[in-house]
Amino acid sequence: MDIELLKPTDRLRVMDLVEATGIDVSDWAKFKGGVEKAASNPKYCYEWSYEDHSKKIIVLNLWYENLSEKNGEIIQNLNLRDTAKNAASSPQSRRATKMDFSLQKAARLNWPVRVIICDGGRRDSNSTKSSADRRLLDSEQWYVKSYSSDSGDCVLVRGTSTEFFIDQFSIENIPIGEAKRKEATTSVYERSPQVRNYILKRAGGFCEWCGQEGFKTLSGSVYLETHHIQPLSENGSDTVDNVVALCPNHHREAHFGESAVQFRKELASRVEKLNKSIQPTANASADFGARLKI
Ligand SMILES: [Zn+2]
Ligand SMILES: [Zn+2]
Repeated sequence: MDIELLKPTDRLRVMDLVEATGIDVSDWAKFKGGVEKAASNPKYCYEWSYEDHSKKIIVLNLWYENLSEKNGEIIQNLNLRDTAKNAASSPQSRRATKMDFSLQKAARLNWPVRVIICDGGRRDSNSTKSSADRRLLDSEQWYVKSYSSDSGDCVLVRGTSTEFFIDQFSIENIPIGEAKRKEATTSVYERSPQVRNYILKRAGGFCEWCGQEGFKTLSGSVYLETHHIQPLSENGSDTVDNVVALCPNHHREAHFGESAVQFRKELASRVEKLNKSIQPTANASADFGARLKI
């Protein structure tokens, strides 16, 4: 995909593009300008992001000039928290914060993102509003690849997520590395993404305890939760021998069920059997590196 094909050439109205995503825009007409001026309702027309909770969709305005290409993907790096901090006016700051919340929602809930690409006519940063001359609604869906709740750094990617199996950590930006205690007021343990990915592939979308298939998320991934049989807080290892993929129900049971102690033992022997039954292949050798403490 050539990035230049996304360069908008037409003067289209935001309201029409938002409506084209399926979001109800009837409220735009509910102001003194009425239906005739609905598209310039100041409550909506300058916003940077739109949400529809019933349709579970996020619409974002992105600047064409800020799109970039990385490893064959069209992406946009954003940090709306910084934008809000450095905004020249309070309306801009409010819009940035609202867009930041939308990104968080898209990241946590896996909501698909539709993108209005804007170009031209951008005013300087001292102005209270920047208005685009030309716009287009990208026909492709986008998704939030990563969102760091620490910094607000966000990577948006054009297309649908290629991760087929995901867990509760997939939507957070988790640093790669050894599981270790982060210096924080609460105990947070970093988990190796390679180990999680290996486990999710080993499970193939089915709870490794009950065999029930994980549910499908809006982005088309299959959701299960990865669980450390011996908790990291009890010096359990972050290796494929100690991690199991469970349906959300069994994950909660593993933590809070009345027979949690017995459950832990049974999960350990289940995982031992599962790992033994997998024949290492040339392709899987990298995955099997996960057996070593990464
Ligand atoms: Zn289960
Ligand atoms: Zn757990």
